[in-house]
Formats: sequence, C-alpha cells, structure tokens
Amino acid sequence: MKIDLTKIPPGGKRINFSLEPGWWKPDFDEDRIVGLDSPLSARLKIYLAGEKIVVDGFLSVRLLLRCDRCLETYSKDLTTDFRIYLSMFPFNGEAEVELLENDLNLDFIDDNFLDLDQIIKEQLILNLPMKTLCTKDCKGLCPICGCNLNTGSCSCQSRYETLGNVS
Ligand SMILES: [Zn+2]
Ligand SMILES: [Zn+2]
Repeated sequence: MKIDLTKIPPGGKRINFSLEPGWWKPDFDEDRIVGLDSPLSARLKIYLAGEKIVVDGFLSVRLLLRCDRCLETYSKDLTTDFRIYLSMFPFNGEAEVELLENDLNLDFIDDNFLDLDQIIKEQLILNLPMKTLCTKDCKGLCPICGCNLNTGSCSCQSRYETLGNVS
C-alpha cells in the first residue's frame, strides 16, 4: 500500500487496515519469518510536524517463525508500537523526501509515495527476538545425523563420547 506524501491533510491521515497472511512473501528475504499465522492488523497515523513527516503505528499479528536450533516452525504473537520520522524538502515545486534514519536501508519512499508494506516488513524484522527458539530449552538437531532431538533420539552422542572426541 502506498501513500501520497504530498497529499497529507494538515490534521494528519489515519489508516487502519488488515493484511491477509498471504501478504508475507518468501522473497521478502527474511528466513526467520516463515509467514503470518493470522491476519496482520495495522493502525497508522501519518502527519506533518514542521518539515518532518511522522508515522506513528501499531501492529499486531501472530507470526510463524523458524526455530534457530531445530528448524521447526512455531507461532509467536507480536505487537509493536513504533514511530518513524521522515524529512520532506521542497524541490523545484515538487516535494522531495528523504529518510532521516536509514535503519536497514529499506526503501520506504518511492517518488513521493510512502511504501507502507516496506515499513511494516521492517518493523516485523526489527521486533524479532535475537534468537528465534520454539521453546526456551529446545534441544535442536543432532549435529551428526540431523534428527530432531525434541521429538526423537539417536545414539550419535553416546558413540561420540566413547570415541573420546568431545572437546
Ligand atoms: Zn526448536
Ligand atoms: Zn544423531
């Protein structure tokens, strides 16, 4: 969804919408997020403050994440509030917009249009935990045979120990 920044009314513009789970695409290039497990609801307010454009937002969604250790998919609720500042300069009669903080080098602005999809995508990524774990004590995969140690067991570890190769 794109918003024309030259047409923000003086009192600001409020947008509430919801995105279906199919909105998240594998080519968003974020391996940890497998997809959305619920529709994503977004409430945004875009307003001018002096020469700045401010985007206040609230997002709520249930994400499908990939566990760092066992690589299984699990669900996690995510809600977040955020505020982004953009700067707008008059240029040859047209407005030119520049990002003040370029967090992840994502393109929020395309000509004079604000790309809400990119903003939401970046907020989801920024709010991921440092490590995505299905459970706090996920046992992960056996480094030798690759079996999921949460749901199965193998004899690799004991063989490894008898060989005296544990460092
Ligand atoms: Zn896991
Ligand atoms: Zn094993």
